[in-house]
Amino acid sequence: MNQKALHKISYGVYIVSSKKGDNLNGQIANTVFQITSEPMVIAVSINKKNLTHEYITESKVFTVSILSTDTPMTLIGKFGFKSGRDIDKFADTDYKVGETGAPVVLDSTLAYLEARVLNSMDVGTHTIFTAEVFGGEVLNDIVPMTYEYYHQVKKGTAPKTAPTYLKEGNEKMEQSDKKSAGGKYRCTVCGYIYDPAVGDPDSGIMPGTSFGEIPGDWVCPICGASKPEFEPIKE
Ligand code: FE
Repeated sequence: MNQKALHKISYGVYIVSSKKGDNLNGQIANTVFQITSEPMVIAVSINKKNLTHEYITESKVFTVSILSTDTPMTLIGKFGFKSGRDIDKFADTDYKVGETGAPVVLDSTLAYLEARVLNSMDVGTHTIFTAEVFGGEVLNDIVPMTYEYYHQVKKGTAPKTAPTYLKEGNEKMEQSDKKSAGGKYRCTVCGYIYDPAVGDPDSGIMPGTSFGEIPGDWVCPICGASKPEFEPIKE
């Protein structure tokens, strides 16, 4: 079978958020869709390993923030490639508390939905939650980001816990020559591009530093991947 056929399915890019007690968490999801209009029911597929899965299972509520095309990779990195077990994703995120107490991310959000879980279906690595929508608002007219746009324009990739993760796409150019020290390197985890001309000043890497000169303990500023997870970009 040609797995590339699966790439032809269209998706959006969302932040699904939930709560557990006073704790808030959220994650990037591309599998949010409307099931019925009467009643207004949506579904989302969430990896069982994710903290948000634990929160939704416990609180039975979640919100969906629909992200716009101008969403910065840093927001996707924070919500898509980092775990709420390691960082507080809401510490420096613009959000509001919805009717159920679940947070609604407002950063780069053009519209949002609030939902209460009706049912869950165990599908192995993931759980599909169906939920009734009882709240929502449109915040602006910016175009929603599609998964295609995320891949093609933002050069983003999928983490291994994503329902749509495909091994093949993340292993390309593995044996490219790593000697092109003056060139740019791409993070194979999140798609971040290290440009020697720009460096990574936030991590103390000055502009003009070739990828090879970066200390071995440096990590991707977006997703935290280590140096060996970068690949040279052939231009
Ligand atoms: Fe990265």
